[in-house]
Amino acid sequence: MQLERLPRVALCHRPTPLEPLPRLTAQLGGPRLLVKRDDATGLALGGNKTRKLEFLLADAQQQGADTVITVGGVQSNHARQTAAAAARLGLRCELVLPQVVPRDDPLYQSGGNVLLDRLLGARLHVVEDSDAAAVRIGQIVEEIRDRGGSAYFIPTGGSSPLGAAAYVDAVAELAEQADTQRLQIDHLIVANGSHGTQAGIVAGVAALERSERVLGFSVYDKAAEARQKTLELAEQTLELCTGEKQSLDQRVVVNDDYLGQGYGQPTDAMVEAVNMLAQLEGLLLDPVYTGKAMAGLIDLVRRGTFKPDETIVFWHTGGTPALFAYQEVFSRRP
Ligand SMILES: *Cc1c(COP(=O)(O)O)cnc(C)c1O
Repeated sequence: MQLERLPRVALCHRPTPLEPLPRLTAQLGGPRLLVKRDDATGLALGGNKTRKLEFLLADAQQQGADTVITVGGVQSNHARQTAAAAARLGLRCELVLPQVVPRDDPLYQSGGNVLLDRLLGARLHVVEDSDAAAVRIGQIVEEIRDRGGSAYFIPTGGSSPLGAAAYVDAVAELAEQADTQRLQIDHLIVANGSHGTQAGIVAGVAALERSERVLGFSVYDKAAEARQKTLELAEQTLELCTGEKQSLDQRVVVNDDYLGQGYGQPTDAMVEAVNMLAQLEGLLLDPVYTGKAMAGLIDLVRRGTFKPDETIVFWHTGGTPALFAYQEVFSRRP
């Protein structure tokens, strides 16, 4: 694959563990559930963005950048992992954080990921909305140019074909683990925000001619829009990694039934899922992504959507630092 020729910097603990979820499986009465632990990628509390940053920051270094700029919600896990990766590589980091989530309690504004962003040495620019973010990014680029520096811009969530290519590689990693464990995986479940992770997984399954079906739970866009964007990105990613064009239309499935009121807005099912995984498996999910995706998986299992003898891998994409920004939601007792 051309993927192997893409420049890459080492930032992740790899392979991340593939672990069974025996007590959750028993509680739900089958199918067999496992978790791929990309919350354990290792860099500053981990998460899926670290894999993407291995490719994106290698590109930044090749282009001679001294500063990386990226954008995300105030409690962005992507922003935190970018800040950590930049620190590790000796790059400056500018984080533009539009207030896209209607939460204004002090923990949301300055706890969780925001605390870590500051600790990791990033410069934070909290702005009102995405229009203001675009303006601020333009100003930062100009400032950098004025001081003779060079900026590298990473799109939201690192979801370019180059970032998503990391999940083609991650599918190869998972496939090797599954083969070693003599495990036949029927379904892969993942949260879908800026689409790159699901797009990379879909492209990886296609590139490696695997048979897993991939189901994404949207936590941002409505399903039709998320599906279209994920499909386009998956096809571009596949072409980048293999040099071949292929339609992936049949392979992109996105469900938005567990999104609730919108991005970053808690749902009762998310709170239940986070509590269940914590108390049955000692596994911490997050309130924005994996909590909602797991809520979707639990509900579909309860409805009998999967066959009892099937094997499902839930891709844990990280985000646990955001729990501390949503303390108020979890301290409420039913
Ligand atoms: C960013 C993120 C996702 C979604 O990945 P995308 O590639 O943006 O779709 C899922 N889980 C967590 C914890 C994230 O931070």
